[in-house]
Amino acid sequence: MSSLWPTGPLRVLVVGIDGVRLDLLPELETPHLDSVAAAGFLAPVEVDDATPTMSGPCWATITTGVGVAKHGVLGNHFGGNRLDVFPDFTTRLAAVHRRRTFAAGGWEPLFLARQGGPLFAAPGRLSYVAPVEDSPEAWEECDQRVTEEAVRVLGGADDPQASFVYLGAVDETAHFLGCGEEYRRSVETADQRLGRLLDAVRARPGYAEESWTVIVVTDHGHLDQGGHGGRSTVERTAWVAASGPGLPPGAPMETVRHVDVAAHVYAALEISPDPHWTLDGRPFTPALQPAPVG
Ligand SMILES: [Zn+2]
Repeated sequence: MSSLWPTGPLRVLVVGIDGVRLDLLPELETPHLDSVAAAGFLAPVEVDDATPTMSGPCWATITTGVGVAKHGVLGNHFGGNRLDVFPDFTTRLAAVHRRRTFAAGGWEPLFLARQGGPLFAAPGRLSYVAPVEDSPEAWEECDQRVTEEAVRVLGGADDPQASFVYLGAVDETAHFLGCGEEYRRSVETADQRLGRLLDAVRARPGYAEESWTVIVVTDHGHLDQGGHGGRSTVERTAWVAASGPGLPPGAPMETVRHVDVAAHVYAALEISPDPHWTLDGRPFTPALQPAPVG
């Protein structure tokens, strides 16, 4: 099993693509997501009964590693949250472990003190890009600028050890236009942006010596006509894809949950969670799960 364990500098990139339906992926051209899945896995995630199928609660769960009962984000207004006790991984790693972290995206409550946010309270570097208006086109432009910024940061001197990049245009397109042709094209465009991020990682001068974990994740699905928040199968079905050390291709999967994403980020950086964090998640594979103490 020793070959599973990395030797070089450890790095993690999490790419969050909002509102991507799992059932449509086989019909779409998503070569970059496919490459992550082929090198590791792509697994369905069911949004649990306690969690509204909304972006706020789901992204909070994904990035904190605890469920709504702890982080307290119950909708797309983040007011009343307990993120000070249960911070996202970019904030926790920067504060507790003095790691260089980075978060980027265009949805206000994730990045700004608006609507009860931010979710990403204090990453080492934060890049918020405002969409010029609330429209699918403006969100594509926003995601494009987020991607360009992330390419710069991932390839540059900041050298973040853990990053989260948020792409929101797919979800916005579904809300405006439903899950038709424009939505499908938007998913494919998001995949091209994922490709640019992966290229930026591979182009790093030290890439050959580095051990990268890449996680791509969506928060919820969408009804055919666009919209989510209910308990239907298409709304509550999300997914996670990941590759990296400890995740051999086709890694035998236990059930993957949203809370496992942050837990896996910590494991990929060889950080044992403090029991006081009371994480609800666990790394994706038993190989990376902490050995029992005592
Ligand atoms: Zn969402």
